[in-house]
Amino acid sequence: MTRAPAVVVVGAGPAGLFAAERLATAGAAVTVYDRMPSPARKLLLAGRGGLNLTHSEPRAAFRARYEALPPLLSAALEAFPPAALRAWAAGLGEPTFVGTSGRVFPEAFKASPLVRAWLARLAGLGVSLVMRHRLVEIAAAGALTFEGPEGRTVVPCDAALLALGGASWPRMGSDGGWTPLLEARGVALNSLRPSNMGVEMDWTEAFAARFAGQPLKSVAFRIDDRTARGEATITAQGLEGGAIYALSAPIRESLATHGAARLHLDLKPDLDGAAIARRLAGARPKDSLSAVLKKTLALTPQAIALLREAAGGPLPRDPAGLAALVKDVVLPVPGVRPLDRAISTAGGVRFDALGEGFELARLPGIFVAGEMLDWEGPTGGYLLQATFATAAAAAAAMAVRLGLRPPSPAARW
Ligand SMILES: Cc1cc2nc3c(=O)[nH]c(=O)nc-3n(C[C@H](O)[C@H](O)[C@H](O)COP(=O)(O)OP(=O)(O)OC[C@H]3O[C@@H](n4cnc5c(N)ncnc54)[C@H](O)[C@@H]3O)c2cc1C
Repeated sequence: MTRAPAVVVVGAGPAGLFAAERLATAGAAVTVYDRMPSPARKLLLAGRGGLNLTHSEPRAAFRARYEALPPLLSAALEAFPPAALRAWAAGLGEPTFVGTSGRVFPEAFKASPLVRAWLARLAGLGVSLVMRHRLVEIAAAGALTFEGPEGRTVVPCDAALLALGGASWPRMGSDGGWTPLLEARGVALNSLRPSNMGVEMDWTEAFAARFAGQPLKSVAFRIDDRTARGEATITAQGLEGGAIYALSAPIRESLATHGAARLHLDLKPDLDGAAIARRLAGARPKDSLSAVLKKTLALTPQAIALLREAAGGPLPRDPAGLAALVKDVVLPVPGVRPLDRAISTAGGVRFDALGEGFELARLPGIFVAGEMLDWEGPTGGYLLQATFATAAAAAAAMAVRLGLRPPSPAARW
């Protein structure tokens, strides 16, 4: 009797667990190692926000959300599109729904039931989970060494998948400690940087104290030629939220290139300047400027205070001047919030370090998937979709390499 090929998966986040499921289904004997005491910690954290699994928007718009779409990621998304992820969740007893913003969530609106059902399925497939084992070395020939409670062990296998995540929220397990291990083997990496992170602002103390935690709704931010509409929250340090996160890459780039970045905030993106000026001109002369902005434009106290904060002095009284300010509040960005507070990580294993099927060219037999790869997308479900899609693609390539039947193609986009 021939033995089942032995596969080691390192990282029990969504990428590692999904590849483990696919490979075990294809007939491999799979062991998953993770440095934490329990699996899927970041996925469970994501579940606190409802677990935005993917997005329902059409294919072209969906694909355009990624900063760059390397051919391997593009092919992975085609082979494992949002419908496939939704079908998978439904198969675990967690059907999904499309929220008002087009984002897709499990009906339970949290991650824990999905993770429970998933771990039970993995156990049924014979997948072993070895927790509290940190990958500490990758030998030139590809052997993996783990440090566990009982010391070091070298684990032999027929193929391995690294799914070690990025370096945001290191308390959840992914701390980016893998970078020197791969660099030592000549694998090309781009430095890990914050993505979907907050930006810092030089708020006055009074503004920060009064308005931290308050939202700015239905606004648009612009930097250079990139615009993002949506919501942001004022924080003690600056601004955070989807509309800021979506501009992560150009903000980072501007800071790196020019040492400075400037956000332009449009507080009324559905009205043009002339329409705003007309409304302002029609206000009752006796009203204070705050009352005028509230009554004619429905601006919130925090939006009005932000106008004053940015103007650094009295607001213009003429309707055209005030309208111009409402449409373009200039906000200098002195810096961004650190990587450990970001939602996700940019940088990581470069796509040109990979051969066909997510295999490291410098370490044959070792494949990579998930957030540790150098792709970048916004919040809205794009992170988990790419995580699952790259795991599916890597697992399919590994199955072929091991002479197993690769998992059948999933749903079409
Ligand atoms: C607060 C928050 C909310 C989020 N919400 C969403 C959301 O709603 N929708 C969305 O699409 N995305 C969301 N994300 C992003 C999403 O959770 C990640 O993109 C996703 O978890 C990446 O999966 P992964 O498997 O690649 O890595 P991870 O989930 O980070 O898993 C990597 C695993 O590798 C292990 N590991 C790391 N190094 C080692 C080592 N040396 N040895 C052994 N094990 C190691 C870690 O312990 C970890 O378990 C959110 C992220 C955060 C922080």
